[in-house]
Amino acid sequence: MEKNIFKNSSKPKSRFGISTVFFGIFVALFLAVVANSFVAENNSGAVVKSGPVELTFSDVLRRADEIQTMNVRGDMATGKLSDGTEYRATVVYSPEMLEKFADRGTAISIDTSKGWVDYLGVWVPIIMGVLFIWWLFRGMRGGGAGIGRALVGQNPTKVVTGKPKTTFKDVAGIDSEKQELSEVVDFLRDKSKFAAVGARVPRGVLLSGEPGTGKTLLARAIAGEANVPFFATSGSDFSGIIVGLGVAKIKDIFEMAKRNAPCLLFIDEIDAIGQRRSQNSFNDQDREQTLNQLLIEMDGFSNETGIIVIGATNRPDMLDPALLRPGRFDRQVHIDLPDMAGREEILKLHAKKIKMHEGVDLGKLARGTTGFSGADLENLLNEAALHAVRSGRKLVADEDIEEARDKSLMGPRKIRKMRPEDIKLTAYHEAGHAFASTAFTGIADPIHKATIIPRGRALGMVQHLPIDDKVSMSLAEVRANLVIDLAGRAAEEIFFGADKITTGAESDIAAATALARRSITMSGLSNKIGMVSVNQAQTFGARVPLEAASEKTAEMVDAEIRAWTDAAYKDAVKILTKNKATVEKLANELLNRETLTGEEIMEIVSGKKATKKVTAAAKPKKARVAKK
Ligand code: ADP
Ligand code: ZN
Repeated sequence: MEKNIFKNSSKPKSRFGISTVFFGIFVALFLAVVANSFVAENNSGAVVKSGPVELTFSDVLRRADEIQTMNVRGDMATGKLSDGTEYRATVVYSPEMLEKFADRGTAISIDTSKGWVDYLGVWVPIIMGVLFIWWLFRGMRGGGAGIGRALVGQNPTKVVTGKPKTTFKDVAGIDSEKQELSEVVDFLRDKSKFAAVGARVPRGVLLSGEPGTGKTLLARAIAGEANVPFFATSGSDFSGIIVGLGVAKIKDIFEMAKRNAPCLLFIDEIDAIGQRRSQNSFNDQDREQTLNQLLIEMDGFSNETGIIVIGATNRPDMLDPALLRPGRFDRQVHIDLPDMAGREEILKLHAKKIKMHEGVDLGKLARGTTGFSGADLENLLNEAALHAVRSGRKLVADEDIEEARDKSLMGPRKIRKMRPEDIKLTAYHEAGHAFASTAFTGIADPIHKATIIPRGRALGMVQHLPIDDKVSMSLAEVRANLVIDLAGRAAEEIFFGADKITTGAESDIAAATALARRSITMSGLSNKIGMVSVNQAQTFGARVPLEAASEKTAEMVDAEIRAWTDAAYKDAVKILTKNKATVEKLANELLNRETLTGEEIMEIVSGKKATKKVTAAAKPKKARVAKK
């Protein structure tokens, strides 16, 4: 962690003043109340020593006849007994009790006078309440000087500051984004250069992208490259139960930034403040004020100030358009999930921190981690290192990497007691997927491994490894994948009989249906439906508009999906039936060894040592995992 070497945040005096005064008042009142009870106790001690007998309430009731005078103050009674001794008693005050004594002729006086301390008990809560409400309302008027400011004062640095040592070298795989932001670095380094030409530089940059894609890292690196202070805060810190807190915090942070300019102010999760205004929920008014304050601050500083605000969000579509206007976050940089090359670079970068066996192939790992963010990849390597330690290894090996990857893809290994017949069925099911995969070598992705180790909700799985980043699929590949998806169920039917098939093929069927539907309704791969897009689909948060489909078209689509999956299932049955012996051999090997690598599977299928050869035809979107 960097040291906080910066000038303290705004107005230390006044803020300290307010909170100190209130704290002081509170402490004083508290002490007064405590002191009061202390005094009272002391009194009682002193009185006991000097004479009066101490009576309990039951004593008082029992010896009612002896009691001559009684002075009641609160629940304390003092007075004289008939023999002249003074007494002191705790009584349970009630009119009936007093009446009883009065009837007996006891002289009763009731002391209602109160010392100033007595009033405290009543007034302290009232005064505090009034102060609190007043305070709250001061905050609400948008002055931000109320409780909000005081609380900010108590807790001034939710803001992380420092001059980061992070540089662009620590950010891998997103070169074009780095390029785009190098201008911001230049500006922070020397703003006069820009002013001289009269160029308008961005004040705000919006980094969008899924969690873990390195938005924070990139922002830090910009500050690090420019060697300027970095202030980081999160949008979620600005909303709270206390109205006005957000406004006060925004003011504070910007004041701090101005004092330390040139600098970079990073606001993570900016959608928490900048969300498109929606229903008028209770929270909304407060958030809107916070957002307004942010806009005011951003409009308020000129180019010469030298502050760059970087906001980060994974929901850019949710942001209020006001935030994106010129002079605000008018530059948007989207960080995609890393592609295959990017993943390899990120893995290589983080692998430097880990002692790794030289045989580990990070390129292959990059192929098998489609959809992983930078943070996921870093985490994967760390998991692998932990697994190596647990297994008593000094270097991270392939098996640690495999374990870590499976864990993050499918969840941790399940230690589950399975009936032998279930294990056997799973082995045949996976063997079915595996064999079908080998039947489509060159068309579908090569098989990476098959296993019957249960993980997450899956009883076993077959994984494929794309050769490179896939942008599209051929019709032949779609068909092949449908067959591979349904081959698990087909194996169940062939080897165990039609009435023994299981529910375990659920996710296979879901995957096949989704693939067929997409191909038919979106990709125009079906002759029957033709080249119309029928469906609504979501691509990376941006909604593709809903195309109205007539009922007739919808029926045709349903029939077509069914025709595709039916045909694929028939093909699967045909392929597996023809090669029953080989599938059986695969299943038995799985039962013996639990996991078979892609090469081992190829060996078993071809009956000889596989020559290591990979075809470059296949390239899917996701590392496909066929769950049992
Ligand atoms: P975000 O802010 O987008 O959620 P972070 O910047 O917090 O993501 O990323 C979390 C961690 O993941 C980083 O600290 C870094 O270790 C790792 N990471 C993410 N993307 C990259 C990348 N492109 N290069 C190197 N490391 C990365
Ligand atoms: Zn399956």
